Amino acid sequence: MNQIKSIKGTHDILPSESRKWQELEKIVRDACSLHGYGEIRTPIIEKTPLFQRSVGQETDIVTKEMYSWDDRDGANITLRPELTASVARSFVQHNLGIQNATQRLYYLGPLFRRERPQKGRQRQFHQFGVEAFGSVYPEQDAEIISIAWHILSKCGLGDDVKLHLNSLGSEECRIKYIDSLKDFISPNINKFSETSQRRFSKNTLRILDTKSEHEKIILKNAPQIADYLTDEDTDHFNQLQNYLTALKIPFEINQKLVRGLDYYSRTVFEFTTSALGSQDALLGGGRYDTLVERLGGKPTPGIGFAAGMERFLIAMGGNQKESSINESRMFFVCTEEGGIPVTLSLSQKLRNHGKEIIMDSKRRSMKAQLREANKINARYALILGRDEIDRSEIIIKDLIKGSQKKVAQSALFDNL
Ligand code: AMP
Repeated sequence: MNQIKSIKGTHDILPSESRKWQELEKIVRDACSLHGYGEIRTPIIEKTPLFQRSVGQETDIVTKEMYSWDDRDGANITLRPELTASVARSFVQHNLGIQNATQRLYYLGPLFRRERPQKGRQRQFHQFGVEAFGSVYPEQDAEIISIAWHILSKCGLGDDVKLHLNSLGSEECRIKYIDSLKDFISPNINKFSETSQRRFSKNTLRILDTKSEHEKIILKNAPQIADYLTDEDTDHFNQLQNYLTALKIPFEINQKLVRGLDYYSRTVFEFTTSALGSQDALLGGGRYDTLVERLGGKPTPGIGFAAGMERFLIAMGGNQKESSINESRMFFVCTEEGGIPVTLSLSQKLRNHGKEIIMDSKRRSMKAQLREANKINARYALILGRDEIDRSEIIIKDLIKGSQKKVAQSALFDNL
């Protein structure tokens, strides 16, 4: 029979890798708790208009990357391609705005985008992220960025990343800016790629995101968003920079940073790393002061970020096999069928006392079982042979020192 393989752009996370995932998840959860953020878990499927209305009709995600289908009742449904929209939907639906002055939420989970797979880019991938609803002030922006910085530092990535920062201003100044950007580009539009030409009329800002060196050169003299910011926007941006300086978080202003989605306003930011090749964005976010309203809620400002977990693990040099001895792990070696009930019940007791016990379930030879004990990095092997069964004893073998001792089964706990 033919084997059935996983779908292109999706990956299995095997036990040899999942420990690294768990470590990253723990760093994220701890950091979010330390900053007062509570976990939110939203469904993986949502109504398609949620993303059309929030992410934007003309964005890459909505125009070509979503997995959407007509459900049997006629509703169009989408596998979520990002989580801010879902979290904002949930915020509105459950009236979270009235419960607290600022709602601080974080999430972890899989997302789906039909992109061309390559290193660090998958069709099913995972993100963690945070969202804070309720504050318009730049200290909230600083808090969000400081959570990202905290997590990056705990992952050992603090020295390898660059923080790019920009302000897209409020909607009114962005409209004026886009007009003058169009005026600047239109005489040269034929020199731009098909993608940029397509973006020109519907998602003009994204042209600034271009990867083409040739387009970057043309755009060198393009108008700068900073010249279009209102006084309030500039003030917000300056205060944020002061706060980041107080936090000793290094940053660079990058006027070309626009981020792809429609809902951003004012602050946008991205952490990149050289460890990832062309997919160098590790974590990105921004302020979305009009999103809640767009989704039918009361006007509520918000800011958040999302980070790619696969990319974090690549940058951390993750996905390695566990190599060190696990102190609380033991392998139960039993060479006699008659010893199986004792093996099972002693293992159960040990686990109830927090020991990690693995037993052989293939009735292999003593040699094969000890080889396995070493392979899984167990600290001790507990050995039950014919003699030990007859005398209600057990051998404790120290797999680091190689020494062993025989004790009464009833005294096993006192000897571990
Ligand atoms: P975005 O939601 O596009 O702002 O992406 C936020 C982060 O998610 C990026 O900085 C990446 O780390 C990660 N990411 C986005 N798209 C993918 C993908 N297709 N595969 C893996 N990671 C991704």
